Amino acid sequence: MRQKVKTRLLLLMLSLLSGLALERARSQAIDIGLEVDYAFGERLIFHGQIPDTLPLLQPIIFFEVETELQTRSTEAKVSDFGKLTAEYDLGAQPIRAFSQVDYWVEAILADGQSYTSPRGTFFYTDNRYEWQERQADHFRVYWYSGDTVFAQNLLDVANEGLHNAEELLQGELTDGVDIYAYATAQEMRTALQSRGQNWVGAHTDPDLGVMFLSLPSGPEQRLDMERQIPHELTHILLYQELGSGYDNLPVWLNEGLASVAELYPNPDYLILLGKARQNDAFLPIESLCQGFPRDASGAYLAYAEATSFTRFLLQRFGSNSMQQLISNYAQGMDCQRGIQATYGESLSRLDRQWRRDAFGENMLSSALDNLMPWLILMLAVLLIPLLLIFSTRSRKPSSQTNG
Ligand SMILES: [Zn+2]
Repeated sequence: MRQKVKTRLLLLMLSLLSGLALERARSQAIDIGLEVDYAFGERLIFHGQIPDTLPLLQPIIFFEVETELQTRSTEAKVSDFGKLTAEYDLGAQPIRAFSQVDYWVEAILADGQSYTSPRGTFFYTDNRYEWQERQADHFRVYWYSGDTVFAQNLLDVANEGLHNAEELLQGELTDGVDIYAYATAQEMRTALQSRGQNWVGAHTDPDLGVMFLSLPSGPEQRLDMERQIPHELTHILLYQELGSGYDNLPVWLNEGLASVAELYPNPDYLILLGKARQNDAFLPIESLCQGFPRDASGAYLAYAEATSFTRFLLQRFGSNSMQQLISNYAQGMDCQRGIQATYGESLSRLDRQWRRDAFGENMLSSALDNLMPWLILMLAVLLIPLLLIFSTRSRKPSSQTNG
């Protein structure tokens, strides 16, 4: 008899528990139709409709942005009619353009249990423009200004640039690349929000496989393409090869390689280097390991030097040594050690050799060049009294003879 009661109690408990579990599963399965709209660079707006049967307390929207480690969140409000809304300020906390975002809502149910909605996903594209799309091989190009010939040019230059970059790095592009062509540098920079300096003409997020170009129409457009695309592609290729080791590359090497891969080398770099030589204004390569100057003129000189120095290393030691250098850095060696371990010489010594080879710069002669105006002045200062003495002396005997 007691055994029977026990069994009944057990059955009752089981049915209660399974009832609760069922109720919970049902509430979890209820989709509140959470959706998101956004004004690019301004705000995200989440909205959903909560059924009368499912009162939700303290709802919070969570969202995960592609490649970010932190989960973001924002509190949501529920109106009397069950409308759930939440806003997130993108001006204060921007999301990288063209990232994928996963989102969901969590809340407390009336019975104290927790509720998690199904996940939704959206692609945070720059929706200020009507993008057209064209695709070939590894590349998808997006543009909003220009015709299909322009888009085909982008694809052609991308393929040509890829050939250059793959040869330079002895690697192969494995993942696809999305290329967004903005019509002006200003429009591109607003897409980057706080991430780019105000002189930047192109940008890459290598971990997203996305590049941003600025290609105003005009006679320079094709040349701009031939510079920007292979350059940004090299960054992406390096990232694909090195993964997290990419961040260990010294900036001069990362930018140097990208610039060497350009199909149309920047003619301004030679002029900048010539001027730096004249004014003895070279930035030591060592100072370009962690970053480049933030001002435009300092940054351009840094790019020019990085390009020339990288080319010097390639020409002097060959591309196998360059692969070794890249791999040494990717494995965590610091800026000086990587060079020393690869070439058996210090960075500052190679810096001097590069200047001598590239510009025929001899430290003594360049020092003399700079000192020359002062030497002339010094000579003048010393010579004038000497000449005066000499002239008075030579006049005296003549006066004697005359007198
Ligand atoms: Zn670059």
